[in-house]
Amino acid sequence: MAYHFESLPQLVNLRGKLPHDGWQPTNSKYSKTDIAVHHSLTDQGDAYSFSRYHVYTNGWPEIAYHFVILKDGTIQWCHGLQVISYHVGNSNSFAVGVCLVGDFRDTEPTKEQKRSLRELHAQLKRDMPNYKRTRGHDEFPGYAWKPCPEFDYEAVLNGKAPEYGTATGGKATRTLGRGDKGLDVRRLQKKLIEAGYEMDGHGADSSYGPATEKAVKAFQRDQKLDVDGLVGPKTRAKLSALLLNKAEADKPEKTEKSKEDETVAFNDVYKNKWYADELKEAKEEGIAKGQPNGDFNPEEAVTRAEAAVFALRAYKKAKD
Ligand SMILES: [Zn+2]
Repeated sequence: MAYHFESLPQLVNLRGKLPHDGWQPTNSKYSKTDIAVHHSLTDQGDAYSFSRYHVYTNGWPEIAYHFVILKDGTIQWCHGLQVISYHVGNSNSFAVGVCLVGDFRDTEPTKEQKRSLRELHAQLKRDMPNYKRTRGHDEFPGYAWKPCPEFDYEAVLNGKAPEYGTATGGKATRTLGRGDKGLDVRRLQKKLIEAGYEMDGHGADSSYGPATEKAVKAFQRDQKLDVDGLVGPKTRAKLSALLLNKAEADKPEKTEKSKEDETVAFNDVYKNKWYADELKEAKEEGIAKGQPNGDFNPEEAVTRAEAAVFALRAYKKAKD
């Protein structure tokens, strides 16, 4: 067996068998350092339905996750570790995605799912030679706004809580305030930091103390919410909305797009074309002059006469 996790009896190999439209790029298992934990945000579903959604609705080549864990604990294996799939944006190239079926904003993964996550995780760490860490989707750069995976995956992986369960439930629905502790507090703190509320340099320490309260109150004041230092649905929603706007604004696509639209030398020679640099030089050297209106019609065929003129200009240039 190529991978240790293949020895898990609840693993079903679906590689190459799922709906796809082309294939995702690859690097190697040595490039993968992170494990990303997701939930599906749906009550039902499996690798087949997620695949259909990712391919036919989102227009991706294949399913986003390397593994899907069903409620009965079945692990559906979708990609080898070399595959770069779409699940955590700029971090895709080094992250392996594991998705548990369920909406854990107000439910828990099943006992079987928790056990499978724990067992798969233990084997994955052996199968990823450069493994560094495991994070929830919302702990990856640019995703603090995303309610994923919501459950306390750390407690599950540590096996600390009964039935691999959680101490707090890790639920986003718990109203947080002074004295609370847990992963949900840490998530809140990370979000506050990302939103620019620094908590006097305490960082995300999982404990809701005076500095966290101060940051929450400052945020509530800025957002014209009730300034009570309690983080319930309203404060949570405002914080997520702010982080989502921030993530949208930070997206690199906008600048890339404007670069694509940029032209050089002629009105119709786009910077990203393979011939852009050569044409720019040709114009500067007086070899290519283009149309009086500033167009060059770069994709059009050249006549024999034009070719002769270009060649003669270049020849004269070389003689000078
Ligand atoms: Zn996710």
